Amino acid sequence: MKIIAIGRNYAEHAREMKSEVPTEPVIFLKPDTALLREGQPFYLPAFSSEIHHEVELVLKICKEGKHIAEKFAPKYYEEIGIGIDFTARDLQAKFKAKGLPWELSKAFDNSAPVGRFLPKTQLGNPDNIDFHLDINGNTVQKGNSRDLIFRFDFLISYVSQFITLRKGDLIFTGTPEGVGPVKADDRLEAFIGGEKLLDLKIR
Ligand code: MG
Repeated sequence: MKIIAIGRNYAEHAREMKSEVPTEPVIFLKPDTALLREGQPFYLPAFSSEIHHEVELVLKICKEGKHIAEKFAPKYYEEIGIGIDFTARDLQAKFKAKGLPWELSKAFDNSAPVGRFLPKTQLGNPDNIDFHLDINGNTVQKGNSRDLIFRFDFLISYVSQFITLRKGDLIFTGTPEGVGPVKADDRLEAFIGGEKLLDLKIR
């Protein structure tokens, strides 16, 4: 499986990063070794002193497809979950300053914890899903998929023009504003609506 992630997909987050609001999706990949399964702690890596949380809605691809038309995109995912796109912000800033790919700041081991998934039928309109992240009981990020610059169906269609999607692939759809650092002993809890789907300890 592979993880496809979308950058700067909420205008307010693009602004907080002092990045332009994109006119086309910003895409990057995380390898399968980035996946951190539910129940496992996240160990702060030695190569960074600034790991940021980015809470994101995650689509689970349910069948293979390429060149998917936007109107057929809903057939390619049946479940939606929540995950964290951990980012070594200090490394990313260095790579960005040099105009280099920022792959290593995003694709490192365990940088993609993912919680439980819910059937999308249970969630109603996919373009109106509330989600949030609490750290140690305080809400630090809050979003709704209605504020996505590029919505789920468009993303599936767009990505599949370039990369074949396969069953089990995950699409991280972008983070709302409020990203920030995590530290040892933090507890991250991520919710869709009122339902907690991810409970993660930082070590
Ligand atoms: Mg992200």
